[in-house]
Formats: sequence, C-alpha cells, structure tokens
Amino acid sequence: MINLENISFDHCIKCTICTGYCPVARVTHLYPGPKQSGPDLERLRIKNPELVDASLKYCNNCKRCEIACASDVKIADIIGRAKWKYSKKRFSLRNILLTRTDLIGRVATFFSPLVNFITRVAAVKFFLDIFLNIPSKRRFPKYAYKTFRGWFQRNKNSQMKFDRSIVYFHGCYVNYNDHDLGKAVVKVLNALNIGVIITREKCCGVPLIANSYLKKAKKQANHNIQILGKAVESSEMKIVSSSSSCAYALKYEYTNLLELDNTRIAGHIVYISEIIYQEFEKGNIPNMKPMKLTAAYHAPCHLERMGGVIYTIGILEKIPGLELKLLHSECCGMSGTYGFKNECYQISQDIGSELFSKIDAIKPDLVITDCETCKWQIEENTGYETIHPVTLLSRAIEKVKRH
Ligand code: SF4
Ligand code: SF4
Repeated sequence: MINLENISFDHCIKCTICTGYCPVARVTHLYPGPKQSGPDLERLRIKNPELVDASLKYCNNCKRCEIACASDVKIADIIGRAKWKYSKKRFSLRNILLTRTDLIGRVATFFSPLVNFITRVAAVKFFLDIFLNIPSKRRFPKYAYKTFRGWFQRNKNSQMKFDRSIVYFHGCYVNYNDHDLGKAVVKVLNALNIGVIITREKCCGVPLIANSYLKKAKKQANHNIQILGKAVESSEMKIVSSSSSCAYALKYEYTNLLELDNTRIAGHIVYISEIIYQEFEKGNIPNMKPMKLTAAYHAPCHLERMGGVIYTIGILEKIPGLELKLLHSECCGMSGTYGFKNECYQISQDIGSELFSKIDAIKPDLVITDCETCKWQIEENTGYETIHPVTLLSRAIEKVKRH
C-alpha cells in the first residue's frame, strides 16, 4: 500500500519558480533542482523507492525553494525525508565527526589549544582530505577552552535580580566555540532588564538532520522538547536562540521533518533579534555609544525562511553611527556541514562567490550575519571580520545605563 505521509507535493503546479531560486541548481548540472528532486520524483518514489536519485545529496537544505513556492510545497522537507528514507545507509566516519557536535565539542574544548593547532597543520589537513573526504582548503572553526555552560554556571546568580526571564538555547557553537557571543546575549538581555536561564539542552539536531541521521536527531529533539517544555511550563516565557538555524529547527524542523509534537515549545521559540526588536519598539532601548563603522549585512537562509530578517535589520538600524549596507545576497554556500565535504566543496564555493564579490566591492569595516556557518564561509573567503548582530549590539551598549 502507498503511504502518503506528506502530500504537500500534490500542491505543486509545476511553475518551476523554485528551481530558479535554488542556489545549487544554479551552479551545477549535477543537481536537477527542487521541482524535479522534490514533488516530481516524490510521486514516483512512493510507488517505487528504487527510483531514488543519488543527486539528492547535493541539496543543502537551505529552504530557498520553500520561500519561493507560492503553493506551500514543503520541498526541502520532502527531499530531506527522501534522503533519509530511501538512500542506502553507509558508515561514514566523516559524517559521524561532523554531526556528533556535543561529543566532539566536549572533548575538543578540553584540549582546545592542541585541537586548534592540529587542525591547522597541513599534513593533518591532507590526511583528512585523503581519508575522510574533508577538503584540505577548508578551515576548521576554533574551539574555545571549556564551555559556555561552565561560565554561565559560575555567573548564574547575577541573573536572579531581574523581574523577567528568558530561556536561552545557546546551541553548540556558543557552548564550544564562541563564548563571547553567549556572553553578548546575556549582556544585551540584561541591559533590557531581562534575566537569562539555560537548561541542559542537547544539540538542536541540524547537523544530524542535514546528514540524514533522523533517528538520532529525533532522540535529541525529544530531549530538547522535554527539557525546554519543562522550563516554560504554564508560563509565557520565551525561548531565544542566537543561531537562526537552531531556532528554525526547534520551531519548524521538529514537526515538519522529524514529525514530532513540539507544541509545548513551538509558540515560545523566538530568534533573538525579534525579542530585542520588540523591546526597542516599546521604548526599552539601552544607552549605546556611537559605532563609527560601515557594516555589510548578510541574511542567512533559515532566517529568511522564518521571516526574521526585518528584526535584525531593525535592531542594527538603532545603533548610532552605524552605516549599514544590506548585501541582498542569497545563500553563502556553506550550509552547515555541506561545505566540509569534498563532493560539495566546489559547489559551496561557487554559490558563495557572488556574496564574496559583493562584500569586496563594499569594503566594509566588518560583516554581520546571524548564522555561525555563514560567518565561517565569509571570513575564510573574504578575510573580513564577521560577527553576530548581538555581538555588535553588545559592543555598542554602554554599561547598563538606561534611557
Ligand atoms: S515553486 Fe512550488 S509549485 Fe512551483 S514547481 Fe516548485 S514546488 Fe511546484
Ligand atoms: S533546499 Fe536549497 S538546495 Fe535544496 S532544493 Fe531547495 S533551494 Fe535547492
């Protein structure tokens, strides 16, 4: 019997607009594009799973096709589920290393000086390229020493004095790589008179989802739904994330792709710039010193999919002295773990090349983006310092003097 789990493919009117918006189909003939890989082939796959196409691996789950589709076909979700359901599962040490972020992060942060040194040695990169198919040209993000959670635990008493609180889903990147971003989030929320709570969260599951480890992703998602659900139980407390991809996964991927019931948390999850924007709109604006800078802003795909870009632009526009240049860019090409695979590396670079040229043409003092993997791609290819909007806001905010 045919199992019609997701019939959104049947809403496709074959306009092909999604294919025009697909950054991968635009740069390579290896991928036929969202219309063919999504709704067109899904019709055939449900009748005969043997018809699964090896080109599905080139979809980077950017969701740009879904933004373009007027018929609300869940194209990327159809492709993501098809990759998991029909593709042959092969053991891949590379994919294990790229997706077990909590395990790798815990070990790497303990030995971070050594790990950061080793991952930059040419011979090690060569080995990773040959044996694990991780491109030697790619630069690994640096690990911090110990975790953000550890820092927060030592400082959590300072969060008790606020009347309002927010749960902060810090994500793996803040926990293992960029403590300064987590500290900036705490500083900015405190400047808005909001205290911060963190829970014993696990990785949101984005790398697992992108690499078709949906069973493991479901396990982690269930853990997060329970632990975050408990934290906001019978309250209207929000859960914020400073990673646009984590926020998207918690709010949408858990139901649309992993088919889990996330109603306990979905209404609470907000990307950080929306919360800050709402406070600014109410007149709750901390004192900010002028930032005499030209900043180029790149909007990540998953934030565009959530409709959250206007909030980030809205808060950046409130920073005095900042000259903000919107890049009108599309996908940066990195797409999480996608750019760390030899078979996708050149596609990733070709997708990003237009963005890199736009940044070079502006010659900004720095680049701003909401997504950590966009940051890695931009810094590696342009050399410009690339920071999170909340990091810039925290640099502008003077020590909790208020209007
Ligand atoms: S944009 Fe939507 S309706 Fe048009 S071809 Fe793509 S999936 Fe079908
Ligand atoms: S998710 Fe992105 S890469 Fe995949 S089909 Fe859609 S637009 Fe193309």
